[in-house]
Amino acid sequence: MSKEKNIELEDFLNTWLDRNMEIYGSILAEWEEYDVVKPVPGAHVEFNCNDCGKCCEFKNHWVWVYPSDMVKWLQEINSEKIMPLLLGILFPVQDHDDVIGYGLPSQKSIYEKFNQFIKILKGSKHKQLVLRSILKILAQLNPTFNKNSDYCIFYNYNSEQHCLIYDFRPIQCKVFPLDYPQFTSIEIPKNLKDKYGTYEDDLEDLPMCPKETYKGDPLKGVMVNEDERDLVAMEKANYLTSYVTKDWQDTDISEILIEIFSFEILNLVEKKNVKK
Ligand code: SF4
Ligand code: SF4
Repeated sequence: MSKEKNIELEDFLNTWLDRNMEIYGSILAEWEEYDVVKPVPGAHVEFNCNDCGKCCEFKNHWVWVYPSDMVKWLQEINSEKIMPLLLGILFPVQDHDDVIGYGLPSQKSIYEKFNQFIKILKGSKHKQLVLRSILKILAQLNPTFNKNSDYCIFYNYNSEQHCLIYDFRPIQCKVFPLDYPQFTSIEIPKNLKDKYGTYEDDLEDLPMCPKETYKGDPLKGVMVNEDERDLVAMEKANYLTSYVTKDWQDTDISEILIEIFSFEILNLVEKKNVKK
């Protein structure tokens, strides 16, 4: 790719991110002003994650990667070798409200989709090479990578700390399962509802965390501390940002990200050591 083309793509990405972050910042400020995320009155249930890994298995859900996650990853681009890879594997995903955003793929979905693309892209040896390289790096990085697995590409079955990107995991992974409406009451004032349309969090089922992770009845809400409430508010503001920036969804930025970071991604394969 020419240098000019690369600059053009980077400009597009930066404009896209700036616009998203501007909207995200204003939504977050409003959520704080109206104190939208509240503790559930009388909540007395404690939750303790038992590291079962079910939330990292994408059978009925996926993990969103929001613009604020991308901005954080871009800030680390020069210090963490894995960052170009994180940005290069984002998949477009669509929610039940038709909100389109970006998510982490499962091992199975990245294997299937990238192999489909490799077949389609017969005319571009460079793109094929980058996609093959990403699959190769993932297999190096995650020794339990399995092309039939529904687990997140960064979930390592055998290691003590299962998440290979724990320090940089997306905000949704940090919040889970506290952002379930049953756990933390979210009261959206009418003026915000009118402004942002029909945003409703209408999940009826409890998250997949095993029963023993709750002390008490989880339907009665879970005690969350200030920090956890702030994280939930950030996650919800991120989701709304995707909703509000629907007009930008005609362009799939995942392809742009792969183009921009292809040089670094190919370098990672040559170095054969992805980890720091
Ligand atoms: S990024 Fe880590 S915590 Fe999040 S789904 Fe993947 S393995 Fe699980
Ligand atoms: S499903 Fe729940 S208990 Fe299991 S790892 Fe995820 S947050 Fe922890």
